[in-house]
Order: sequence, then structure tokens, then C-alpha cells
Amino acid sequence: MSTSQQPPLSPPPQPTSEIEEVLTDDNDSDYSSIDSEIPLSSTTNKPPLPTMMIDSLFTTPPLLHDPLVTQTSTVQDETVNEILPFLSASNKQPDLFTYNEFGVPNLRREAHVNFLHMSLGRLPGRFVAADASRPWFLYWCLSGLAMLGEDVTQYRDAVRDTAKSMQNPTGGFGGGGGQLSHLATTYAVVLALAIAGGEEGFEVIDRRAMWKWLGGLKQRDGGGAYCAAVIITLLDLPLDLTPESPAYKPDDPSFNLLSGVADYVRRCQTYEGGISSSPSAEAHGAYAFCALGCLSLLGNPSRTIPQYLNLPSLLSWLSSRQYAPEGGFSGRTNKLVDGCYSHWVGACFPLLEAALNGSSMPVNDSLFSREGLIRYILCCCQDDTKRGGLRDKPGKMSDAYHSCYVLSGLSAGMHQWVLDETENNGEEPEWMVLPCLEGEQVFEVGDRVRAVHPVYVIPQGAVRGMKNYYRAKGGFN
Ligand SMILES: [Zn+2]
Repeated sequence: MSTSQQPPLSPPPQPTSEIEEVLTDDNDSDYSSIDSEIPLSSTTNKPPLPTMMIDSLFTTPPLLHDPLVTQTSTVQDETVNEILPFLSASNKQPDLFTYNEFGVPNLRREAHVNFLHMSLGRLPGRFVAADASRPWFLYWCLSGLAMLGEDVTQYRDAVRDTAKSMQNPTGGFGGGGGQLSHLATTYAVVLALAIAGGEEGFEVIDRRAMWKWLGGLKQRDGGGAYCAAVIITLLDLPLDLTPESPAYKPDDPSFNLLSGVADYVRRCQTYEGGISSSPSAEAHGAYAFCALGCLSLLGNPSRTIPQYLNLPSLLSWLSSRQYAPEGGFSGRTNKLVDGCYSHWVGACFPLLEAALNGSSMPVNDSLFSREGLIRYILCCCQDDTKRGGLRDKPGKMSDAYHSCYVLSGLSAGMHQWVLDETENNGEEPEWMVLPCLEGEQVFEVGDRVRAVHPVYVIPQGAVRGMKNYYRAKGGFN
């Protein structure tokens, strides 16, 4: 049997190429009318300092250069050449950006907030291609706004009503009204409801139907993982399978919704050390995060991650995703740096650090260059027009997807997570966040974004609020 036939882990929450095209198409006049409605960010007009402290690592091409010229090496060189002026602050735009003494621009918070509010409103007609991704826009925008420090409770009623229109009586949420339920869109709706908060929103979810629906999706080999594990744990669903589930094992009643998942994740680690969508596929940053997130939900990550994954090879692969001079991450071997991997790869490190710190080989330093990541994000991923929002790289348009995951990566770079296991009394360990101050901090205090839970990627208060609500109910009523 070919292993490539196996079902994938839950799909990484990324736009399809078709949607990415819509999100990043800059030849649309509709946007110019939207742009004119966006007020400019109020920048403090500080004159740039005469000398900025930028390490030459970030201002010069790599010392080692493979002489073999291929299509891949050519586009890599072009990308570095396009990015260097941004990293060395030689193309300063004083009307839109202010720079600190490290040559790093300030976060254009107000412009990004405006962009995300706009993305939650009426969108140009061509976004019809993203119709099956409507829950994603809710999640990306609400999560982005929360990280930027905005109060999103104003969207409670709208999120509740939209969620209601997308739920199917057979369980789960579709991408829009009248669409089939899907694990990925259900994951996005549940997270959006958690961020917006409020019992009326939580009450929308038919948890019994959700539980039965998940039972119908359960694969005997353990595939279909991160999105399901997030939904199950946030909604405090029972793990049992009913005899109607295709995965139900009459001879093994203990086989449940999460059985076999950890072993499936183990089989997705590739010869490179990274994690793929299914056994024998190519290692990819988004699946690395989903795999680590999944293992962190199945048990204490300091135990589950080393138990199911080869840590040294995973660490080697993850570290190879961070490039110099760019500072940001790529998603796969020989691919270009892209802002969204600031999250998919960058957010793997807190989970890995937690795993190692609970083991016999604790780490005292960061396992990645926080400075490099923060420089890439603030220098290269901030839209440099009045539109605002965050993007893949210079030359690309900002969009809601990249805004969410670039900000989440920024949050991973600006904070340190510790797993507090002191008083767990059988309960799951608590994640504690600390501001990361090690070494030189190249961002200003006012540019810090809020921390998000390292596994659920929503504010910790939102995780607690939703879990406690359903736990207190005890059962489906
Ligand atoms: Zn991207």
C-alpha cells in the first residue's frame, strides 16, 4: 500500500493558491477606493538618528554562495537584493515609518488595526473566490486585532450571528451558509467565537452534533489531527466514539477520538527532520507547527514531543528555515523567506523550548534569532503604503492571513514561554509568558504586541474563558 494515499494531518490553515491570488492581487481598482478611506497612522516625526546599530549579518549578502546557478538560486538572490535596502534602512520612508536606534521601524499599529477592521467589513467583489474561507477572515482579523491590543468585543454579536448561519445540523461549520462542514473552517469559527467571547456566542455551538460529526471523521490510523484536537479540547468534548463512527473498534472500546494521533504525527517526521502533511510527503513549516501543537494538546509537551519526535533532527530542520541576511523563515527547503512562516516556524520554538526545558537537556538561550525575526517582520513585512496590514515580503500586498500570522510570529519573537508544572495536581500544566529581554532588544517597548497562547494561537484569556464555560456545564446541556 502506498503511504502517500494516507489522509493528511488537518490541513494547515493557509489560503489556497486561488485565494492567495485574490488576497494578493494588486491590480484591482476596488482597493484604491478602500485605501482612500483608511486614515494614515499617526507617526511621531522623530528625525532618524545618524548612526543606526545594524549588524552586518543583516546588511550584506551571505558569505557563502553556491556557484551553481538554478532557477531557485536566481530567485533567492533576487529576493535578498530586494530585501537588503529594507533591512539596512536605506530606503527610509519618513512619512510612513519612524526608526529606532537599531535601524528598525516602529510598528505601524494604527495602520494595521485599520486594515484588519476594514477586512472584517464589506470586501470587493473578487473576494467571492474566498467565499468558502469566510470563517478564516473572522479568525485572522480578530486574532490580529487582539494581538495589536484592540478590544474586539464590538464584534461579538456579528460573530455569533455569522457562526449561526454557517453551522450544519449534522455538526460542524461550513465556510459559509449552505456549505458542507469542514474541520479547518470549524476550527476557525470556534477560535473566532473564543476570541470574541460571550456566552451567547458559545451557546451557538451544538457540541453534541459536533462530537458526533468528529466521530464520523475519525481515521483509524490517527490522521486528521491539530484542528480536531483544538476543537475537542476547547469545547471539552468527550473522547469516546459511538458504534456509528467508521473508526469504532468493537474489540477495543478504549480507541477514541485522539487514539493513534501521536503515532501518526511520529510517522509524519521526514528524513530531513521536519514534519509533513502525511507520511512520506515533504516537510513543511505549517505541519511542523500543527504536529507540535497537537502533541502539546495530547499531553505535557516536555514528555510528548521527545517521545514521538526526533528532537535533534527537527531542531536542525527548523533552524535551517531561518535565513541570513533576511532574518525571517522559509516554509520548506530551498524556498524563499515568507512572513507567514514567522508563525508556522517561529511559533514552533516556544513549544520546543518548553519540551527541552522539561528534559535532561534544558536550553538557556533562544533556539532561534529573535533579533533576525523581529528585524524581518518590522523592516520587511509591514505594508509600506497607507493601506496598512502585514505581508509575505517586500513587493507583495498585505492581506488578512499574513497580518494574523506575521503578528503571531512577532509575538513569538517578543515573548518567552515557560511551562509551569509546579502545582499541576494531575491538571494540564499552565503556560506562563515572560517578556523576552535577553540580549539586545531591537524593538521599542511601545511596539510590543500582545502574547497569544502558544498552542491555540488566541489570547490566553480567550482559551480559559471558553474551556471554563463548557467545563462548568458538565455534559452537553
Ligand atoms: Zn505566506
